[in-house]
Amino acid sequence: ARAAALRGATGPGQTRDGHRVPLLANVGGPQDLDNALANGAEGVGLYRTEFLFLDRATPPADAEQEKAYRKVLEAFPEGRVVVRALDAGADKPLAFLPPPGEEPNPALGERGLRMLRRHEDVLSAQLSALSRAASGLTTKLQVMAPMVTDAEEAAYFARACRDHGIDTPGVMVEVPAAALRARDLAREVAFFSLGTNDLTQYTCAADRQLGGLASLQDPWQPAVLDLVALSASAGIPCGVCGEAAGDPALACVLVGLGVTSLSMSAPSLPLVRAALARHTMAECRTAADAAREARTAADARAAAREALPGLA
Ligand code: PEP
Ligand code: MG
Repeated sequence: ARAAALRGATGPGQTRDGHRVPLLANVGGPQDLDNALANGAEGVGLYRTEFLFLDRATPPADAEQEKAYRKVLEAFPEGRVVVRALDAGADKPLAFLPPPGEEPNPALGERGLRMLRRHEDVLSAQLSALSRAASGLTTKLQVMAPMVTDAEEAAYFARACRDHGIDTPGVMVEVPAAALRARDLAREVAFFSLGTNDLTQYTCAADRQLGGLASLQDPWQPAVLDLVALSASAGIPCGVCGEAAGDPALACVLVGLGVTSLSMSAPSLPLVRAALARHTMAECRTAADAAREARTAADARAAAREALPGLA
């Protein structure tokens, strides 16, 4: 059964009728590249750079950052690598970037881009290391900011990128406000990447670290699907890099909602590639409509599965 499920599991991502959907890997650094390549990743859709900064009292030296970034970029000479600027705070605390004071709700506190704006030296060092790392390579470098809330923040980040010669700035859409005003943000940046882990957490007000809230921390929640659809219709490329992208049925739904690329942990790539290869774009759209018409996450999942006859 697994062999059958994996048929169509190599080559670039596309629907049965040939609609291209690049399939990318989430990585934490050069150590994850073998796994990404072995599973046929076409590039990196989320490079979580926090790992380089963990467990240290000071930021890594410029040369050390540049070296790690270059290794990841070099692995995909014909593809893209989407690097996320440091996402510190909340569930990713960093010793050298403590919050400015006691935070009763760290997930709603100073994290992601909010933190970087208070430490512009850290952001600037990272962007210049990235810019140097990409020079002379054919890999397409894209850089995105985490935890962006409004168009002013998106504009700030785009300016910072361009100041360092990075001309495709993007933002993660993981705060409901950003999704609701996606059209405003789209005027400032070149692409979106939906962080469905945080977007679900904030949409459903359900802490992603509390296992007991799993039924609310579910990207099949129709409210989350509505926000995905809004973001994907704002007129710029819109990928997904949260765990949702690695669920074969949900991946088809996301594509049906207008998402243009999917990034996931490498072991999920073959089954998602196979699921896409077995469905047309029209079937993905029908599944997306059915899921959005449902009233609960469980009903959305069931309705989508029914509309996707080729699922294993
Ligand atoms: C997300 O929030 O969906 C995401 C991809 O980022 P992280 O899980 O690292 O917060
Ligand atoms: Mg996130």
